[in-house]
Amino acid sequence: MALLLATLVLAVVLGVQAGMAATYHRATAQGVLRDYASAAAETYAQRAGREFEYYGVYPTFRVLARVGAGETRVPLPEPAALPLSDASERQAIAYVRSLFRVDLNDGSIQHTGARFGKDMERWLADTLQRAAHAFDPEWVLAVLVDPSPAQHLVVYTVQFDEEYRPLTAYGVELDPDSVRSLFAGSATRAPLLPTTLTRRSDPDSLMSIELRDGLSRVLARSGIDDPAYSPYRGETSLGPRAGGLVAQVALRPEAAEQLIIGGLPRGRLPLIGGLLVLTAGLILAALLLLRRESELQRLRTEFVSNVSHELRTPLAEIRMFAETLALGRVRNEAERQRSLEIIDQEARRLTHLVENVLQFSRAERNASHLSPEPTPLAPIVEHVTEVFAPLAKARAVDVQTAVRTGDAAIADRGAVQQMLLNLLDNAVKYGPEGQTVTVGCDRVNGMVQLWVEDEGPGIPHSDREKIWNRFSRLEREQDAAVAGTGIGLAVVRELAQLQSGRAWWERAPSGGSRFLIELPAAEDAP
Ligand code: ADP
Repeated sequence: MALLLATLVLAVVLGVQAGMAATYHRATAQGVLRDYASAAAETYAQRAGREFEYYGVYPTFRVLARVGAGETRVPLPEPAALPLSDASERQAIAYVRSLFRVDLNDGSIQHTGARFGKDMERWLADTLQRAAHAFDPEWVLAVLVDPSPAQHLVVYTVQFDEEYRPLTAYGVELDPDSVRSLFAGSATRAPLLPTTLTRRSDPDSLMSIELRDGLSRVLARSGIDDPAYSPYRGETSLGPRAGGLVAQVALRPEAAEQLIIGGLPRGRLPLIGGLLVLTAGLILAALLLLRRESELQRLRTEFVSNVSHELRTPLAEIRMFAETLALGRVRNEAERQRSLEIIDQEARRLTHLVENVLQFSRAERNASHLSPEPTPLAPIVEHVTEVFAPLAKARAVDVQTAVRTGDAAIADRGAVQQMLLNLLDNAVKYGPEGQTVTVGCDRVNGMVQLWVEDEGPGIPHSDREKIWNRFSRLEREQDAAVAGTGIGLAVVRELAQLQSGRAWWERAPSGGSRFLIELPAAEDAP
């Protein structure tokens, strides 16, 4: 039992270990995926920032510098009137919706191109007044996003005097659609993760990329949809000049299988849990078997002691009366006859007991060989009652028979005798002295029912099946001094079943027991 329990503990420890290892591997793999997402976001942020400046805005500011757009004395030109010198400038100007200039001395704002609303004018003038003082001359350009729902994207620069005092801030407001396509283009132009990892899959099938403004609103998006359910996300700011723009990458959970070599480790909990339950079940079964085994062992020991006890009493009687006869101590012929009868009766009891034990051991070894054949029952019952007469007489029991001459069963003669003897023996043993015991026979639906009825105490309801088990004796027999081995009824049932029949108990009309044996009826009794 200790070994089995130790095995269970070991199984639990191993299970917990395996569970922890699996969880750890999964967490590591998920961490790697989040790192991939961050790396992709980083690459995207750098590329998008660079491309936006080179293709989107630098050429325009080159033109603006050329025309002196930062000088308050020069009138701010219309975007369409700007003198363009090459293709890159023509391409960049196409993104521009309007030009503006804020005089940082008086806060006045001028703009050309598409109209601004009043709110936009005020916001731009106020924001640039503050931003211009934080503007690092090294930056060249900086970006702002309008907090209104329109999300105007503004790019500006600051004009300084010789002592690096900001004079004016000027720049462009860009067309939102152009901005969107510019940023989306940067996402797909080249892979964001090493191709050895992605195996050249379409970037859209692996991840979705979003560019968000400082208020976390989406400015541009690339990818099939927003996998908000994806736990693998990474984000990077586009830098201090980018007005709070943030690039965010979410790897699609389906892509995880492809990006992690060998796939994402599976959760092992159901498997490990199942194995643990199975182990626990097996160990429990082993413990139950162990208990049953020791119970059986106890019953066997009890059986051996009961059999020895049963043997001792008749042997002592036989010896005593044989000695009396041998020493000629009998006073008359009647006493001599009586001694001989007792010796005969006890010898029969011994034979019967030994027969029972032998039959029981044959049944245990599956070595019972019966030869059922059409057998008339009346002669057997007659013979058995005759054989049993001395034992019945000893307790003044009247044995009656109610068997018709024609009744016959397909049965083994010896087996029927032994079953009847067992039942008669019990009836006499457990019934009162002077009672009447009846042996009878009925035909029911093509079967023959042999029965033995007594006037004894009957069997309590809860024990009606138990009494047929080997070694089982009723509790009340433990106190009453009736000897027994607990195999008599087990042998009866075993023999009945070997002859395609059955055996059971019923309450007799007298209130005592009626034990029945049912056997196949023989149509033509020889
Ligand atoms: P044994 O008689 O050796 O104890 P059996 O298998 O023949 O074993 O009987 C099992 C138990 O059934 C007996 O111990 C007894 O308690 C009960 N029993 C059997 N026959 C009768 C009966 N005719 N009347 C009352 N109890 C009985």
